[in-house]
Amino acid sequence: MTITEPGKQRTTPRYHTIGIGAGPSNLSLAALYKNVTTEKLALFDARPGAGWHTPLLYPGVRMQTGWMKDLVSLVDPRHELTFLNYLVTSGRLYALINSQFDSLPRIEYERYLAWATERLGVVNFSSRVESISITDDGFEVTVDGEPAAVSEHLVLGLGTRPVRPAYLHGLPEERAFIADELGARMPALDHNAPTAVVGGGQTGLECILRLLGSGFTDIRWLGRNQWFRSIDDSPMANELYRPSHIEFLQGLNRSKRREMIDDSRYSGDAITPGGLRALYQSNYDGLLTLGRFPVTLLPGRDVRSSTPLPDGDIRLCCTTSTTPEEHDVRQVVVAGGREHVEAPFDDELRERIEFDDDGQLLVEPDYSVRWKGMNGHRIYTFNASRYSHGLTNAGLTQLPVRAAIVLNSMFDREIYPISDELCAVQW
Ligand SMILES: Cc1cc2nc3c(=O)[nH]c(=O)nc-3n(C[C@H](O)[C@H](O)[C@H](O)COP(=O)(O)OP(=O)(O)OC[C@H]3O[C@@H](n4cnc5c(N)ncnc54)[C@H](O)[C@@H]3O)c2cc1C
Repeated sequence: MTITEPGKQRTTPRYHTIGIGAGPSNLSLAALYKNVTTEKLALFDARPGAGWHTPLLYPGVRMQTGWMKDLVSLVDPRHELTFLNYLVTSGRLYALINSQFDSLPRIEYERYLAWATERLGVVNFSSRVESISITDDGFEVTVDGEPAAVSEHLVLGLGTRPVRPAYLHGLPEERAFIADELGARMPALDHNAPTAVVGGGQTGLECILRLLGSGFTDIRWLGRNQWFRSIDDSPMANELYRPSHIEFLQGLNRSKRREMIDDSRYSGDAITPGGLRALYQSNYDGLLTLGRFPVTLLPGRDVRSSTPLPDGDIRLCCTTSTTPEEHDVRQVVVAGGREHVEAPFDDELRERIEFDDDGQLLVEPDYSVRWKGMNGHRIYTFNASRYSHGLTNAGLTQLPVRAAIVLNSMFDREIYPISDELCAVQW
Protein backbone atom coordinates (compact mmCIF):
# COMPACT_ATOMS: atom_id res chain seq x y z
CA MET A 1 0.00 0.00 0.00
CA THR A 2 2.89 2.34 0.69
CA ILE A 3 4.02 3.94 -2.58
CA THR A 4 7.74 3.64 -3.28
CA GLU A 5 9.38 4.74 -6.49
CA PRO A 6 13.11 4.19 -7.05
CA GLY A 7 15.06 7.09 -5.56
CA LYS A 8 11.95 8.58 -3.95
CA GLN A 9 10.85 8.65 -0.32
CA ARG A 10 8.11 6.26 0.72
CA THR A 11 4.78 8.00 1.17
CA THR A 12 1.98 6.50 3.13
CA PRO A 13 -1.50 7.42 1.86
CA ARG A 14 -3.28 9.86 4.10
CA TYR A 15 -7.03 9.83 4.76
CA HIS A 16 -9.34 11.81 6.94
CA THR A 17 -10.93 8.55 8.15
CA ILE A 18 -9.89 4.92 8.04
CA GLY A 19 -12.43 2.19 8.68
CA ILE A 20 -11.19 -1.25 9.62
CA GLY A 21 -13.60 -3.88 8.35
CA ALA A 22 -15.89 -3.50 5.34
CA GLY A 23 -18.95 -5.29 6.67
CA PRO A 24 -22.38 -3.62 6.75
CA SER A 25 -21.41 -1.31 9.65
CA ASN A 26 -18.56 0.46 7.90
CA LEU A 27 -20.22 0.24 4.47
CA SER A 28 -23.13 2.20 5.90
CA LEU A 29 -20.70 4.77 7.30
CA ALA A 30 -18.88 5.03 3.97
CA ALA A 31 -22.17 5.47 2.10
CA LEU A 32 -23.35 8.37 4.26
CA TYR A 33 -19.84 9.86 4.47
CA LYS A 34 -19.52 10.15 0.71
CA ASN A 35 -22.61 12.37 0.52
CA VAL A 36 -21.62 14.83 3.23
CA THR A 37 -17.92 15.60 2.77
CA THR A 38 -15.16 15.78 0.21
CA GLU A 39 -12.69 14.40 2.78
CA LYS A 40 -11.15 11.03 1.95
CA LEU A 41 -12.11 7.77 3.59
CA ALA A 42 -10.70 4.28 3.06
CA LEU A 43 -11.85 0.91 4.38
CA PHE A 44 -9.54 -2.07 4.89
CA ASP A 45 -10.81 -5.62 4.99
CA ALA A 46 -9.00 -8.92 5.37
CA ARG A 47 -11.43 -10.67 2.99
CA PRO A 48 -10.34 -11.12 -0.63
CA GLY A 49 -13.57 -9.54 -1.92
CA ALA A 50 -17.09 -8.46 -1.03
CA GLY A 51 -19.04 -10.93 1.09
CA TRP A 52 -21.26 -11.31 4.13
CA HIS A 53 -20.81 -14.40 6.33
CA THR A 54 -20.31 -16.17 3.02
CA PRO A 55 -19.58 -19.69 4.36
CA LEU A 56 -23.01 -19.64 6.02
CA LEU A 57 -24.89 -18.69 2.86
CA TYR A 58 -26.78 -21.18 0.78
CA PRO A 59 -30.15 -21.30 -0.95
CA GLY A 60 -33.00 -21.12 1.53
CA VAL A 61 -31.41 -19.07 4.32
CA ARG A 62 -33.33 -15.92 5.13
CA MET A 63 -32.72 -12.50 6.65
CA GLN A 64 -33.91 -11.63 10.13
CA THR A 65 -34.39 -7.99 9.13
CA GLY A 66 -36.67 -6.29 6.61
CA TRP A 67 -35.42 -4.74 3.38
CA MET A 68 -35.97 -1.15 4.52
CA LYS A 69 -33.19 -1.66 7.03
CA ASP A 70 -30.51 -1.30 4.40
CA LEU A 71 -27.26 0.71 4.53
CA VAL A 72 -28.87 4.15 4.21
CA SER A 73 -32.69 4.38 4.10
CA LEU A 74 -33.46 5.03 7.76
CA VAL A 75 -31.66 8.37 7.63
CA ASP A 76 -31.42 9.11 3.90
CA PRO A 77 -34.03 7.30 1.81
CA ARG A 78 -33.03 9.33 -1.28
CA HIS A 79 -29.47 7.98 -1.19
CA GLU A 80 -28.39 6.14 -4.36
CA LEU A 81 -27.36 3.06 -2.33
CA THR A 82 -30.82 2.07 -1.09
CA PHE A 83 -31.83 -1.56 -1.41
CA LEU A 84 -34.69 -0.42 -3.63
CA ASN A 85 -32.26 1.25 -6.05
CA TYR A 86 -30.21 -1.96 -6.09
CA LEU A 87 -33.33 -3.90 -7.11
CA VAL A 88 -34.25 -1.42 -9.82
CA THR A 89 -30.77 -1.03 -11.29
CA SER A 90 -30.09 -4.76 -11.26
CA GLY A 91 -33.41 -5.46 -12.98
CA ARG A 92 -34.77 -7.80 -10.33
CA LEU A 93 -37.48 -5.64 -8.79
CA TYR A 94 -40.56 -7.38 -10.23
CA ALA A 95 -39.13 -10.87 -9.87
CA LEU A 96 -38.45 -10.23 -6.21
CA ILE A 97 -41.80 -8.60 -5.49
CA ASN A 98 -43.68 -11.44 -7.13
CA SER A 99 -41.73 -14.04 -5.23
CA GLN A 100 -43.56 -12.76 -2.13
CA PHE A 101 -40.84 -13.54 0.37
CA ASP A 102 -41.75 -13.00 4.02
CA SER A 103 -38.02 -12.53 4.65
CA LEU A 104 -35.39 -11.87 2.01
CA PRO A 105 -32.84 -14.53 1.04
CA ARG A 106 -29.54 -13.73 2.75
CA ILE A 107 -27.78 -14.25 -0.57
CA GLU A 108 -29.72 -11.28 -1.93
CA TYR A 109 -28.48 -9.07 0.90
CA GLU A 110 -24.91 -10.18 0.18
CA ARG A 111 -25.39 -9.27 -3.50
CA TYR A 112 -26.72 -5.87 -2.43
CA LEU A 113 -23.64 -5.30 -0.24
CA ALA A 114 -21.35 -6.27 -3.15
CA TRP A 115 -23.21 -3.84 -5.44
CA ALA A 116 -22.88 -1.02 -2.89
CA THR A 117 -19.22 -1.86 -2.25
CA GLU A 118 -18.41 -1.58 -5.92
CA ARG A 119 -20.15 1.79 -6.21
CA LEU A 120 -18.42 3.15 -3.15
CA GLY A 121 -14.97 2.21 -4.48
CA VAL A 122 -13.24 2.79 -1.12
CA VAL A 123 -12.52 -0.75 0.07
CA ASN A 124 -9.02 -2.24 0.10
CA PHE A 125 -9.56 -6.01 0.15
CA SER A 126 -7.01 -8.66 1.16
CA SER A 127 -5.76 -6.09 3.66
CA ARG A 128 -5.73 -7.46 7.20
CA VAL A 129 -4.79 -4.64 9.55
CA GLU A 130 -2.15 -6.14 11.81
CA SER A 131 -1.62 -3.17 14.07
CA ILE A 132 -2.92 0.31 14.77
CA SER A 133 -0.61 2.89 16.31
CA ILE A 134 -0.83 6.57 17.14
CA THR A 135 1.84 8.81 15.64
CA ASP A 136 2.29 12.60 15.40
CA ASP A 137 0.35 12.34 12.13
CA GLY A 138 -2.62 10.49 13.62
CA PHE A 139 -3.45 6.81 13.36
CA GLU A 140 -1.23 4.54 11.33
CA VAL A 141 -2.38 1.09 10.25
CA THR A 142 -0.04 -1.71 9.23
CA VAL A 143 -0.85 -4.28 6.55
CA ASP A 144 1.59 -7.03 5.46
CA GLY A 145 4.21 -5.59 7.80
CA GLU A 146 4.17 -2.14 6.11
CA PRO A 147 2.47 1.13 7.08
CA ALA A 148 -0.58 1.15 4.78
CA ALA A 149 -2.29 4.43 5.65
CA VAL A 150 -2.53 7.26 8.16
CA SER A 151 -5.66 9.14 9.21
CA GLU A 152 -7.19 11.69 11.52
CA HIS A 153 -9.90 9.34 12.70
CA LEU A 154 -10.50 5.64 12.96
CA VAL A 155 -13.73 3.63 12.80
CA LEU A 156 -13.68 0.01 13.91
CA GLY A 157 -16.21 -2.30 12.25
CA LEU A 158 -14.48 -5.55 13.09
CA GLY A 159 -17.55 -7.70 13.59
CA THR A 160 -17.48 -11.16 15.10
CA ARG A 161 -15.90 -14.55 14.46
CA PRO A 162 -17.21 -18.03 15.25
CA VAL A 163 -16.31 -19.56 18.60
CA ARG A 164 -14.30 -22.80 18.32
CA PRO A 165 -14.94 -24.64 21.60
CA ALA A 166 -12.13 -26.48 23.36
CA TYR A 167 -13.90 -29.86 23.05
CA LEU A 168 -13.25 -29.83 19.28
CA HIS A 169 -9.50 -30.13 19.87
CA GLY A 170 -8.19 -33.63 19.41
CA LEU A 171 -11.16 -34.76 17.27
CA PRO A 172 -10.76 -35.64 13.57
CA GLU A 173 -11.17 -32.24 11.90
CA GLU A 174 -12.83 -33.65 8.78
CA ARG A 175 -15.70 -34.98 10.96
CA ALA A 176 -15.78 -32.45 13.84
CA PHE A 177 -15.81 -28.81 12.83
CA ILE A 178 -17.59 -25.47 13.12
CA ALA A 179 -20.68 -24.48 11.10
CA ASP A 180 -18.67 -22.23 8.76
CA GLU A 181 -16.94 -25.37 7.42
CA LEU A 182 -20.06 -27.44 6.77
CA GLY A 183 -20.39 -26.57 3.07
CA ALA A 184 -16.78 -27.47 2.32
CA ARG A 185 -16.76 -30.68 4.38
CA MET A 186 -20.23 -31.96 3.47
CA PRO A 187 -19.15 -34.13 0.47
CA ALA A 188 -16.88 -36.25 2.70
CA LEU A 189 -19.53 -36.89 5.39
CA ASP A 190 -21.58 -40.08 5.76
CA HIS A 191 -25.26 -39.18 5.22
CA ASN A 192 -26.58 -42.12 7.20
CA ALA A 193 -24.26 -41.90 10.21
CA PRO A 194 -25.41 -40.21 13.44
CA THR A 195 -24.54 -36.52 13.15
CA ALA A 196 -24.69 -34.03 16.04
CA VAL A 197 -25.33 -30.35 15.59
CA VAL A 198 -24.32 -28.52 18.76
CA GLY A 199 -25.76 -25.05 19.31
CA GLY A 200 -29.41 -24.08 19.70
CA GLY A 201 -29.38 -20.79 17.78
CA GLN A 202 -30.22 -19.76 14.22
CA THR A 203 -26.93 -21.06 12.80
CA GLY A 204 -27.49 -24.46 14.43
CA LEU A 205 -30.96 -24.60 12.92
CA GLU A 206 -29.65 -23.66 9.48
CA CYS A 207 -27.05 -26.45 9.68
CA ILE A 208 -29.84 -28.93 10.44
CA LEU A 209 -31.91 -27.72 7.48
CA ARG A 210 -28.87 -28.02 5.26
CA LEU A 211 -28.13 -31.56 6.45
CA LEU A 212 -31.78 -32.58 6.05
CA GLY A 213 -31.88 -31.07 2.57
CA SER A 214 -28.77 -33.08 1.67
CA GLY A 215 -30.38 -36.37 2.73
CA PHE A 216 -28.93 -36.90 6.23
CA THR A 217 -31.13 -39.34 8.11
CA ASP A 218 -29.95 -39.26 11.75
CA ILE A 219 -29.34 -35.79 13.15
CA ARG A 220 -29.17 -34.98 16.87
CA TRP A 221 -29.67 -31.31 17.75
CA LEU A 222 -28.13 -30.39 21.11
CA GLY A 223 -28.82 -26.96 22.62
CA ARG A 224 -27.85 -25.50 25.99
CA ASN A 225 -31.18 -23.81 26.80
CA GLN A 226 -34.21 -25.73 27.99
CA TRP A 227 -35.99 -25.14 24.67
CA PHE A 228 -35.19 -23.97 21.16
CA ARG A 229 -36.40 -20.43 21.50
CA SER A 230 -37.82 -18.38 18.66
CA ILE A 231 -37.29 -14.67 18.15
CA ASP A 232 -39.88 -12.32 19.54
CA ASP A 233 -40.68 -10.25 16.47
CA SER A 234 -43.82 -8.67 17.94
CA PRO A 235 -44.47 -4.92 17.55
CA MET A 236 -43.57 -4.36 21.20
CA ALA A 237 -40.29 -6.27 20.89
CA ASN A 238 -39.42 -4.15 17.87
CA GLU A 239 -39.74 -1.00 19.98
CA LEU A 240 -36.38 -2.05 21.46
CA TYR A 241 -34.79 -1.48 18.05
CA ARG A 242 -35.37 2.21 17.65
CA PRO A 243 -33.36 5.31 18.50
CA SER A 244 -35.73 6.37 21.29
CA HIS A 245 -35.07 3.16 23.19
CA ILE A 246 -31.31 3.36 22.72
CA GLU A 247 -31.45 6.89 24.10
CA PHE A 248 -33.48 5.68 27.07
CA LEU A 249 -30.95 2.93 27.79
CA GLN A 250 -28.16 5.43 27.92
CA GLY A 251 -29.84 7.33 30.73
CA LEU A 252 -29.74 4.25 32.99
CA ASN A 253 -26.97 3.24 35.31
CA ARG A 254 -24.72 0.43 34.05
CA SER A 255 -26.12 -2.42 36.09
CA LYS A 256 -29.76 -1.58 35.35
CA ARG A 257 -28.94 -1.19 31.66
CA ARG A 258 -27.20 -4.53 31.59
CA GLU A 259 -30.13 -6.21 33.32
CA MET A 260 -32.59 -4.78 30.78
CA ILE A 261 -30.44 -5.75 27.80
CA ASP A 262 -30.00 -9.31 29.07
CA ASP A 263 -33.73 -9.53 29.74
CA SER A 264 -34.60 -8.60 26.15
CA ARG A 265 -32.01 -10.71 24.36
CA TYR A 266 -34.55 -13.11 22.82
CA SER A 267 -35.97 -10.28 20.77
CA GLY A 268 -32.93 -10.75 18.55
CA ASP A 269 -30.74 -13.56 19.72
CA ALA A 270 -32.89 -16.59 18.86
CA ILE A 271 -34.39 -18.58 15.99
CA THR A 272 -36.79 -17.29 13.36
CA PRO A 273 -40.26 -18.85 13.74
CA GLY A 274 -40.22 -19.58 9.97
CA GLY A 275 -36.98 -21.52 10.36
CA LEU A 276 -38.39 -23.63 13.19
CA ARG A 277 -41.53 -24.31 11.16
CA ALA A 278 -39.38 -25.43 8.20
CA LEU A 279 -37.51 -27.81 10.50
CA TYR A 280 -40.70 -29.29 11.96
CA GLN A 281 -42.23 -29.74 8.52
CA SER A 282 -39.09 -31.36 7.07
CA ASN A 283 -38.86 -33.61 10.10
CA TYR A 284 -42.48 -34.67 9.61
CA ASP A 285 -41.81 -35.32 5.90
CA GLY A 286 -38.86 -37.47 7.06
CA LEU A 287 -41.14 -39.41 9.38
CA LEU A 288 -43.45 -40.21 6.46
CA THR A 289 -40.64 -41.62 4.34
CA LEU A 290 -38.25 -43.13 6.95
CA GLY A 291 -40.81 -44.26 9.54
CA ARG A 292 -38.99 -42.22 12.22
CA PHE A 293 -37.94 -38.61 12.69
CA PRO A 294 -34.59 -37.88 11.07
CA VAL A 295 -33.97 -35.11 13.64
CA THR A 296 -33.98 -35.66 17.40
CA LEU A 297 -34.21 -32.45 19.40
CA LEU A 298 -32.10 -32.46 22.56
CA PRO A 299 -32.55 -29.15 24.40
CA GLY A 300 -31.02 -28.52 27.83
CA ARG A 301 -27.73 -30.27 26.90
CA ASP A 302 -24.53 -28.36 27.50
CA VAL A 303 -21.63 -30.14 25.78
CA ARG A 304 -18.55 -29.89 28.00
CA SER A 305 -16.07 -32.41 26.60
CA SER A 306 -15.56 -35.05 23.95
CA THR A 307 -13.63 -38.28 23.42
CA PRO A 308 -12.67 -40.02 20.17
CA LEU A 309 -13.73 -43.68 20.52
CA PRO A 310 -11.73 -46.70 19.21
CA ASP A 311 -14.41 -47.50 16.58
CA GLY A 312 -14.08 -43.99 15.10
CA ASP A 313 -17.20 -42.53 16.74
CA ILE A 314 -17.08 -39.36 18.81
CA ARG A 315 -18.50 -39.27 22.33
CA LEU A 316 -19.99 -35.95 23.42
CA CYS A 317 -20.33 -35.51 27.18
CA CYS A 318 -22.94 -33.02 28.36
CA THR A 319 -24.50 -31.72 31.48
CA THR A 320 -28.31 -31.59 31.69
CA SER A 321 -30.70 -30.26 34.32
CA THR A 322 -30.58 -33.73 35.93
CA THR A 323 -27.91 -36.38 35.23
CA PRO A 324 -24.97 -35.99 32.82
CA GLU A 325 -25.37 -37.66 29.42
CA GLU A 326 -23.15 -39.08 26.69
CA HIS A 327 -24.02 -39.05 22.99
CA ASP A 328 -22.01 -41.15 20.53
CA VAL A 329 -22.04 -39.81 16.98
CA ARG A 330 -19.93 -40.13 13.84
CA GLN A 331 -19.88 -36.45 12.93
CA VAL A 332 -20.20 -33.17 14.84
CA VAL A 333 -21.04 -29.70 13.56
CA VAL A 334 -20.65 -26.93 16.15
CA ALA A 335 -22.61 -23.69 15.95
CA GLY A 336 -21.45 -22.36 19.30
CA GLY A 337 -22.01 -18.64 18.86
CA ARG A 338 -19.73 -15.81 17.90
CA GLU A 339 -17.24 -13.57 19.71
CA HIS A 340 -16.07 -10.03 19.07
CA VAL A 341 -12.92 -9.50 17.07
CA GLU A 342 -10.53 -7.37 19.10
CA ALA A 343 -8.93 -4.30 17.62
CA PRO A 344 -5.22 -4.80 16.87
CA PHE A 345 -4.05 -1.74 18.84
CA ASP A 346 -0.31 -1.73 19.43
CA ASP A 347 0.88 -1.75 23.05
CA GLU A 348 1.34 2.01 23.30
CA LEU A 349 -2.14 2.82 21.99
CA ARG A 350 -3.75 0.02 24.02
CA GLU A 351 -2.23 1.55 27.17
CA ARG A 352 -4.10 4.75 26.44
CA ILE A 353 -7.50 3.19 25.78
CA GLU A 354 -10.07 2.89 28.55
CA PHE A 355 -11.71 -0.47 29.17
CA ASP A 356 -14.56 -1.30 31.56
CA ASP A 357 -14.45 -3.89 34.37
CA ASP A 358 -15.27 -6.66 31.86
CA GLY A 359 -12.33 -5.70 29.65
CA GLN A 360 -14.64 -4.17 27.02
CA LEU A 361 -13.94 -0.83 25.32
CA LEU A 362 -15.66 2.08 27.06
CA VAL A 363 -17.98 3.38 24.35
CA GLU A 364 -19.74 6.75 24.58
CA PRO A 365 -23.29 7.40 23.28
CA ASP A 366 -21.76 8.74 20.01
CA TYR A 367 -19.89 5.38 19.57
CA SER A 368 -16.55 7.01 20.35
CA VAL A 369 -14.05 5.10 22.43
CA ARG A 370 -12.58 6.79 25.49
CA TRP A 371 -8.83 7.13 25.31
CA LYS A 372 -6.13 9.35 26.80
CA GLY A 373 -4.43 12.04 24.76
CA MET A 374 -6.90 12.08 21.90
CA ASN A 375 -5.71 15.49 20.72
CA GLY A 376 -8.60 15.76 18.27
CA HIS A 377 -8.20 12.22 16.91
CA ARG A 378 -11.25 10.07 17.47
CA ILE A 379 -11.76 6.32 17.53
CA TYR A 380 -15.29 5.04 16.95
CA THR A 381 -16.47 1.47 17.18
CA PHE A 382 -19.49 -0.42 15.90
CA ASN A 383 -20.64 -3.78 17.13
CA ALA A 384 -18.62 -3.62 20.36
CA SER A 385 -20.93 -1.96 22.86
CA ARG A 386 -23.78 -4.34 23.60
CA TYR A 387 -24.03 -3.15 27.20
CA SER A 388 -24.09 0.54 26.37
CA HIS A 389 -26.11 0.58 23.15
CA GLY A 390 -28.25 -2.52 23.56
CA LEU A 391 -29.14 -5.26 21.13
CA THR A 392 -29.19 -3.04 18.06
CA ASN A 393 -25.46 -2.91 18.46
CA ALA A 394 -24.94 -6.36 16.95
CA GLY A 395 -27.40 -6.35 14.09
CA LEU A 396 -28.41 -4.51 10.96
CA THR A 397 -31.50 -2.76 12.28
CA GLN A 398 -29.92 0.63 13.04
CA LEU A 399 -26.91 0.69 10.70
CA PRO A 400 -27.46 4.14 9.12
CA VAL A 401 -28.59 5.67 12.40
CA ARG A 402 -25.37 4.58 14.08
CA ALA A 403 -23.33 5.80 11.12
CA ALA A 404 -25.16 9.15 11.19
CA ILE A 405 -24.48 9.57 14.92
CA VAL A 406 -20.77 8.93 14.25
CA LEU A 407 -20.65 11.45 11.40
CA ASN A 408 -22.45 14.10 13.45
CA SER A 409 -19.87 13.59 16.16
CA MET A 410 -16.84 13.37 13.85
CA PHE A 411 -17.70 16.61 12.02
CA ASP A 412 -19.08 18.22 15.18
CA ARG A 413 -22.35 19.37 13.64
CA GLU A 414 -25.80 17.92 13.09
CA ILE A 415 -25.43 16.64 9.54
CA TYR A 416 -28.17 14.08 10.01
CA PRO A 417 -30.91 14.90 12.52
CA ILE A 418 -31.82 11.75 14.46
CA SER A 419 -35.43 12.09 15.41
CA ASP A 420 -37.69 9.40 16.83
CA GLU A 421 -40.48 11.16 18.66
CA LEU A 422 -43.65 9.47 17.48
CA CYS A 423 -43.50 6.67 19.99
CA ALA A 424 -46.44 5.35 22.00
CA VAL A 425 -44.17 3.76 24.59
CA GLN A 426 -42.96 5.78 27.55
CA TRP A 427 -39.96 3.79 28.74
C1 LIG B 1 -24.98 -15.83 9.62
C2 LIG B 1 -25.39 -14.52 10.19
C3 LIG B 1 -26.58 -13.95 9.78
C4 LIG B 1 -26.97 -12.72 10.31
N1 LIG B 1 -28.16 -12.21 9.91
C5 LIG B 1 -28.57 -11.04 10.43
C6 LIG B 1 -29.83 -10.48 10.02
O1 LIG B 1 -30.56 -11.04 9.22
N2 LIG B 1 -30.21 -9.30 10.59
C7 LIG B 1 -29.44 -8.65 11.51
O2 LIG B 1 -29.82 -7.59 11.98
N3 LIG B 1 -28.22 -9.15 11.89
C8 LIG B 1 -27.77 -10.32 11.38
N4 LIG B 1 -26.56 -10.85 11.78
C9 LIG B 1 -25.74 -10.10 12.75
C10 LIG B 1 -24.41 -9.49 12.18
O3 LIG B 1 -23.67 -8.99 13.22
C11 LIG B 1 -24.60 -8.42 11.21
O4 LIG B 1 -25.27 -9.02 10.20
C12 LIG B 1 -23.41 -7.75 10.51
O5 LIG B 1 -22.63 -8.62 9.73
C13 LIG B 1 -22.52 -6.96 11.40
O6 LIG B 1 -21.80 -6.10 10.55
P1 LIG B 1 -20.35 -5.59 10.89
O7 LIG B 1 -19.94 -4.74 9.74
O8 LIG B 1 -20.37 -4.93 12.23
O9 LIG B 1 -19.45 -6.88 11.03
P2 LIG B 1 -19.07 -8.00 9.95
O10 LIG B 1 -20.11 -8.17 8.95
O11 LIG B 1 -18.65 -9.18 10.76
O12 LIG B 1 -17.79 -7.39 9.21
C14 LIG B 1 -16.55 -7.23 9.87
C15 LIG B 1 -15.47 -7.21 8.82
O13 LIG B 1 -14.24 -6.83 9.45
C16 LIG B 1 -13.20 -7.53 8.83
N5 LIG B 1 -12.04 -7.53 9.76
C17 LIG B 1 -11.99 -7.96 11.04
N6 LIG B 1 -10.75 -7.75 11.55
C18 LIG B 1 -10.03 -7.15 10.58
C19 LIG B 1 -8.70 -6.66 10.50
N7 LIG B 1 -7.84 -6.73 11.54
N8 LIG B 1 -8.29 -6.10 9.35
C20 LIG B 1 -9.13 -5.99 8.28
N9 LIG B 1 -10.40 -6.46 8.30
C21 LIG B 1 -10.85 -7.01 9.44
C22 LIG B 1 -13.77 -8.91 8.56
O14 LIG B 1 -13.08 -9.53 7.49
C23 LIG B 1 -15.22 -8.57 8.19
O15 LIG B 1 -15.41 -8.48 6.81
C24 LIG B 1 -26.15 -12.06 11.26
C25 LIG B 1 -24.95 -12.64 11.67
C26 LIG B 1 -24.57 -13.86 11.13
C27 LIG B 1 -23.28 -14.47 11.60
